[in-house]
Amino acid sequence: MATLGIDLGGTKIALGVLEGEELVYSARVATPSDGSEAVLQVMVAAAREALAESPVAVEAVGVGSPGPIDYRAGVVTYAPNIPDFADVPVVGRLRRALELPVFLENDANAAALAEHHLGAARGAESSFFVTVSTGIGGGAIIGGRVWRGAHGQGGEIGHLTVLPGGPVCGCGNRGCLEAVASGRALARDASYAYAREVSTPQLFDLWRQGDGKARELVSGSARYLGQALADVQKLLDPEVIVVGGGVGVGGGEEYLSLVRQAYADHLQVWRRAEIRAARLLERAGVIGAALVARFAN
Ligand SMILES: [Zn+2]
Repeated sequence: MATLGIDLGGTKIALGVLEGEELVYSARVATPSDGSEAVLQVMVAAAREALAESPVAVEAVGVGSPGPIDYRAGVVTYAPNIPDFADVPVVGRLRRALELPVFLENDANAAALAEHHLGAARGAESSFFVTVSTGIGGGAIIGGRVWRGAHGQGGEIGHLTVLPGGPVCGCGNRGCLEAVASGRALARDASYAYAREVSTPQLFDLWRQGDGKARELVSGSARYLGQALADVQKLLDPEVIVVGGGVGVGGGEEYLSLVRQAYADHLQVWRRAEIRAARLLERAGVIGAALVARFAN
């Protein structure tokens, strides 16, 4: 069964037709920044082109979107990185335009599904995926399916409290993992530490050069991530943990080994999962969205 995956991002919309394990068609278009109607129109046009150009017939469409989703209504509640994108009926609109079944999933959950079935956690019964980039997202896959929870917020590791009373998070809570360990948090702390604007990639360059302040900041981020993953282990006990995202993968094996150390420190008497680097990288979103359609029913 071939399915079309649409990965809606803040700057680009990626599309791909997945047949078996292969992307037999891929395309990307820029995400309009002038409101939800423009975004929907571009999505419909790009999807129509994909259906026309695909070498195989597409049977269903999956969409991965940032932000919270009303699964029952097929509506994206809001997408934090896309201007004026709130309460958008993505499923209804695409279904009418394409005359195919359309399924919607949170983008971190879609990436988790991709890594589980075709990436770093392939062959595992259960896995947990965490993406550490500007923000921190996650997804739990149990028995091959996404665990959404009762309200669609299952797997939101970025908002576990790891530092009570710490910096305020976008969600209003203090000391969330995202508020202390994300790319955005690292850039904030680095700019403070160096008393000048320092981006996350610049911080990682300094870290690789062995700069003392950079080492302290990056290992702090890795420690908090390891601590949160240890809590995930006790809660869900996944077989494999996959770490992705610009910080997670960009930090390389050295960053991952810091995460593994902190994770192990918090799991002295507990059985542990294997922590692996994500494999599908920027293709995870589109492959995951296509798998959402494949496994939906
Ligand atoms: Zn939060």
